[in-house]
Amino acid sequence: MVDKSKLENRIIPYKMLKQAVSTTYELVEKILPEDGMPALRLGLKYIDLVMADFIKKAGEGKPIIGYHFAFPSDYLYCFDCVPVCVEAVSYFISALLPDGSEPYYDLITSWGHPFHTCTSQKGTMGMTLDDLFKFDAIITPTAPCDNTYASYPFFRYHKNIPLITPDLPFLWEEKSYTYYGEQLRLSLDELGKVIGQVPDYQKMRKHIELENETNKTQLEIFELKKATPCPLENMYNALSAAAATFMSGREEKLDFYRDMLEIAKIRYKNKEHHGAEEKIRSIWPYMIIFFDLGLCEYLDRELGMSILFDIFNYNFYDPINTKSDLDTLFYGMAKKGMSLPMIKQSTEFFYPFIDDCVRLAKEFTTDCFIFTSHLGCKQFGSVPQILREALRDEVGIPMLIIDLDVGDKRMTSEKIIKDKINMFAQTLL
Ligand code: SF4
Repeated sequence: MVDKSKLENRIIPYKMLKQAVSTTYELVEKILPEDGMPALRLGLKYIDLVMADFIKKAGEGKPIIGYHFAFPSDYLYCFDCVPVCVEAVSYFISALLPDGSEPYYDLITSWGHPFHTCTSQKGTMGMTLDDLFKFDAIITPTAPCDNTYASYPFFRYHKNIPLITPDLPFLWEEKSYTYYGEQLRLSLDELGKVIGQVPDYQKMRKHIELENETNKTQLEIFELKKATPCPLENMYNALSAAAATFMSGREEKLDFYRDMLEIAKIRYKNKEHHGAEEKIRSIWPYMIIFFDLGLCEYLDRELGMSILFDIFNYNFYDPINTKSDLDTLFYGMAKKGMSLPMIKQSTEFFYPFIDDCVRLAKEFTTDCFIFTSHLGCKQFGSVPQILREALRDEVGIPMLIIDLDVGDKRMTSEKIIKDKINMFAQTLL
């Protein structure tokens, strides 16, 4: 007889996360007024449903496929599998569990992995070292950074997990999209051989179509954020990052954005802002801080500072053509794959990133930028100062740089972060 709980225990951190999500959702439902923080309430509701489905599938013995967030999980739905996002686990455990992912960062660091690499991978590496995850295979493109490419071999060489690595090119040209499309197809074939399944591209098309629709809805929300005051609370950014990494290609993700769009439209019509009066409009061109999501609410309520968007909320792509042949389909998938958050910014030279930031600052009537200079992101180390100068010269707005680790609260404390933002805000008011 099949031991369901043994099979489920191949993804113990997802079970931990599900428990944390369910408890927080219950709390939000019981404590907050009906119209309080809808992004949190709705986000948790849909993540809870998705997590429950993943755990059920793990209990049925479906293969566990780890993936880097640079490999959209809608592509993995050509298989009957449980997709596990390596980076999202580390950061959402960091956000929702009292001890965060810190014990697992320490575990992998004491094993010998360099402390200064990206915590988004280190958490899941520590969990895998501790046998809390039992992956059947892992897939990651050769992007967006050296951290990624230098960290993933741990899974192959230490844990003997088959690792599939589609090669993602640097140049943004037609030939790159064709090449990366071929890489994606070869990788899915290879992954199919590892888990003993034949990719079902008809099924995958349906999930990609859902993503096309979701992207359209997200774009509508993005446009509404140009309004003053911004019609969405800061917490939307955090839940949107979770939706991008856990729920790609799923009905629940589309439902989340459709619900948020309705709320944004009502607030837009009534010129409503969440929390206090909107006094400062900020853009966070890289990440928000995952170990302290409460900061989103603090900024809304205490400082009247809107986070218009972070890196997971301003990257859009052309809809993928699902109605033509497989070559066209994979071409579109490649193009989208190269436009994803962080992939777009970190695999290219920084000029397009600076241009995008200057354009967005103007289009969204922004008062300032806040740049979280994440310890792991060495490829981005030189960019903040250049961006600060560009924003000052081209738009006349300042940028605050905070050195930290977005997933490890011991590097720069919540108090220091708040103090820095408070002081910076005083200079703007
Ligand atoms: S680009 Fe930065 S945050 Fe993203 S995975 Fe690499 S080091 Fe981590």
